[in-house]
Amino acid sequence: MAKKRTPKYVYFFGGKRAEGKADMKALLGGKGANLAEMVNIGLPVPAGFTITTEVCTYYYQHNHSYPKELKKQVLDALKKIEKEMAAQFGNPQNPLLVSVRSGARASMPGMMDTILNLGLNDSTVQGLISKTKNPRFAYDSYRRFVAMYGDVVLGLKPKDKHDHDPFEVILDRKKQQAGVTKDTELNADHLKELVSEYKAEIKRITGHDFPEDPMEQLWGAIGAVFGSWMNERAIVYRKLNNIPESWGTAVNVQSMVFGNMGDDSGTGVAFTRDPATGENVFYGEYLFNAQGEDVVAGIRTPLPIKDLQKDNPQVYKQLVKIRSILEKHYKEMMDIEFTIQQGKLWMLQCRVGKRTGFAAIKMAVDMVKEKLISKEEALLRIEPNQLNQLLRPIFDLNQKRSAIENGRLLAKGLNAGPGAASGKIAFSAQDAEEMASKGEKVILVRIETSPEDIKGMNAAEGILTARGGMTSHAALVARQMGKVCVAGCGALNIDYKNGLMKVEGKDVTIKEGDYISIDGTTGEVILGQLETKPSEVIQVLITKELKPEDSEIFQTYNSLMKWADQYKTLGVRTNADQPDQAANAIAFGAEGIGLCRTEHMFFGGDRILHVREMILSESEEERKNALDKLLPYQRADFEGIFEVMAGKPVTIRTLDPPLHEFLPHEEHEIQQVAEELNMPIDKIKEKIESLKEFNPMLGFRGCRLGISYPEITQMQARAIFEAAANVAQKGIKVKPEIMIPLVGHVNELKLQEKIVRKVAEEVFNEKGIKIPYLLGTMIELPRAAVTADEIATVAEFFSFGTNDLTQTVFGLSRDDAGKFLPKYVEREILPKDPFESLDTTGVGKLVELGTKLGRQTRENLKVGICGEHGGDPDSIDFCHKVGMNYVSCSPFRVPIARLAAARAALVNGSPKTKKSSKKVTKKKK
Ligand code: ADP
Ligand code: MG
Ligand code: MG
Repeated sequence: MAKKRTPKYVYFFGGKRAEGKADMKALLGGKGANLAEMVNIGLPVPAGFTITTEVCTYYYQHNHSYPKELKKQVLDALKKIEKEMAAQFGNPQNPLLVSVRSGARASMPGMMDTILNLGLNDSTVQGLISKTKNPRFAYDSYRRFVAMYGDVVLGLKPKDKHDHDPFEVILDRKKQQAGVTKDTELNADHLKELVSEYKAEIKRITGHDFPEDPMEQLWGAIGAVFGSWMNERAIVYRKLNNIPESWGTAVNVQSMVFGNMGDDSGTGVAFTRDPATGENVFYGEYLFNAQGEDVVAGIRTPLPIKDLQKDNPQVYKQLVKIRSILEKHYKEMMDIEFTIQQGKLWMLQCRVGKRTGFAAIKMAVDMVKEKLISKEEALLRIEPNQLNQLLRPIFDLNQKRSAIENGRLLAKGLNAGPGAASGKIAFSAQDAEEMASKGEKVILVRIETSPEDIKGMNAAEGILTARGGMTSHAALVARQMGKVCVAGCGALNIDYKNGLMKVEGKDVTIKEGDYISIDGTTGEVILGQLETKPSEVIQVLITKELKPEDSEIFQTYNSLMKWADQYKTLGVRTNADQPDQAANAIAFGAEGIGLCRTEHMFFGGDRILHVREMILSESEEERKNALDKLLPYQRADFEGIFEVMAGKPVTIRTLDPPLHEFLPHEEHEIQQVAEELNMPIDKIKEKIESLKEFNPMLGFRGCRLGISYPEITQMQARAIFEAAANVAQKGIKVKPEIMIPLVGHVNELKLQEKIVRKVAEEVFNEKGIKIPYLLGTMIELPRAAVTADEIATVAEFFSFGTNDLTQTVFGLSRDDAGKFLPKYVEREILPKDPFESLDTTGVGKLVELGTKLGRQTRENLKVGICGEHGGDPDSIDFCHKVGMNYVSCSPFRVPIARLAAARAALVNGSPKTKKSSKKVTKKKK
């Protein structure tokens, strides 16, 4: 029988070799693993050892006791430190002092406890004095230790900010007695007195003497660090950051080095690159003659790291060398803590540094160019949504900060459309348009928006609504337009009638025309004007104010996008219904239009009047008349889009929304329409009444319209094919794809197909030209998904309309979901809002099934997605795995989708369902 090996609970690091390494974070915690790694790559690290996270688990499972092997292993490791540092723990002549530091697998900054200078007592302090010839330093270290130990181990730390720290009280009294204001002005005698006064206070409160025995101190501190895993702060932090309680913390015991030994000593923190901008510069701060926590605590203002170059060139050189060693080794931007003791540099911590999205992108791209990492690694390192930070208009940060400090933050809503916008308030779409036409910047503020507001939304810089979630009309349209949007800002009380708005809990009345600023990246609503500017990427791609070669940010963006295109196998299209939207999308790399909604085209100019005329018609004859007037508008719209798309596929959806959305609702509007159409007002009201639906989402809409009124589909098909023919005759390629919405039964599609194909033949004959086109359908009803094999006998392509599919699969109306869905997400009944990220296990199953069944019938069936999910990275990953041909999303999400598609290909390889080659790399320039 094999002999059972003694479990290893303690890992030594120091000198030239460590027992642990960087990939042992689960066992040694992040701090312990990286301290070991730094030793292994030859960096100067004060010797120490790590007690594993397993001991923490044991500690909590065994009523706060330790495994029996632990004691000996700790003593053995302590011996090694003593040998390495040439000092002994508890030796009055030559004392070894240590720190006892927490360190979990995931960093939990400031949540747990650390004790410095452990090992000091009335006799070892004498050794420290004779070693350093510096009694003031020795007593300062000693009194800090007693206070820290009292707070952390003996539990005297104040519970909240109203509570007094007993040691602070004594310190203040001492300074008063000594007639000084700063700690640094206290002399050695004062500090020595503080030590005994602190100890007396400990005795008074706890009834026990302060432990003089260093070994007792050590075990007390180890227990306290394990104990801090379960303090309230740590528990709350773990909940918020999804860190399992079972992970536990490790404990690091490390020999002390002192940055407070005089002016040739100091301490600092640094990042190997700028964490805000990503620039490849050494970035950090340090303090002379100070101990670790002083830098972070902000007692003295630290100096920028570059000052060290002239203050101590020797140490600076060492640090710069270490910076480069660390980056070459970790191939990452690192966050470091260091201490200089009498001119000698010591590393105390390193970890991968936190960064802004902006910096993440710049660093990843730079590191590829520096040959530190591969393109694949760079693509995998950037969260697609971080790209937003490169695309959005931005506020001047200092201006925003001071506005908030001056109490101008009104409220916070949902960050529905990222970016920054500032302008005058308009409470109606019409006012917004009018104000904008006078050259003013406008923020459209509405309780909620509807399709009628579309022009006002377009004219506005940004949109602010009191109601509606991330997928509300306002949010959806704003994203498609690339507008800044803060939605669902419940604190706003908007009074349209009097043209003013109040904010809950604030004593302000804000009027139409007043300035307001909204940050769609954070959801902040700020009173007054703030300056904004478009991002550099937009300045290059869209407004053309900047030349590509003049913008480093653009070049970074562009490199990343090129790499993404090399790896992605999914196509990326856009949802657009205006030529300028389409042009923007192409600038962002869209390969086609995946959804062109025709209903938005019904609102511009006189069109809405003809649309209303059509709806209010009594006979087919009348209806055709009205439609004839609409035809030229639609045709011109499609011509514009085909020209911009120049041969890229354009999927056009026939009319989808219920007709009552086009009719007026307010009395005065009805009256106006009656006059314009020369119709009795009662007749209009009657029609409005007759079109009222209990549940419009499941009502008279989608292909049901075209089946009841074939002439609508006829007109739309004619507009599309005439436009296609006209543009083709100019020598521009066109690729129309006609898409029938809300099909549930193949017979519905057959009826619409017949109309479309007949009109196509007619137009082709009239124009003497034949244009290849596809006819397909949305799959947005469960019945369509489960009968996709039948539907594919007619449809040449599928586009999953996952907004409606989610509504119908869940049996919930998105417009009413605001009352309960947020709670579902909050209480984790659903992992995510299914309208934001595709519900892969439910709705996704139907998407998978529909794709499979469809391709059973038609092997080369083109499959895409055009719901809002087409721009969501997690959903895109799913679309890749299902084997779709493309995703379609709003223009400003196209770059994000390209990156997400590349990551999906890198993570998952080629989708199984597609018979593509194994190779990930695609030629393509
Ligand atoms: P946190 O995880 O909260 O940053 P640390 O364990 O890193 O806590 O310690 C807090 C401070 O104490 C840091 O500034 C660190 O540099 C300093 N420190 C920790 N151990 C030592 C040591 N052995 N010698 C000198 N300073 C130390
Ligand atoms: Mg630290
Ligand atoms: Mg739909």
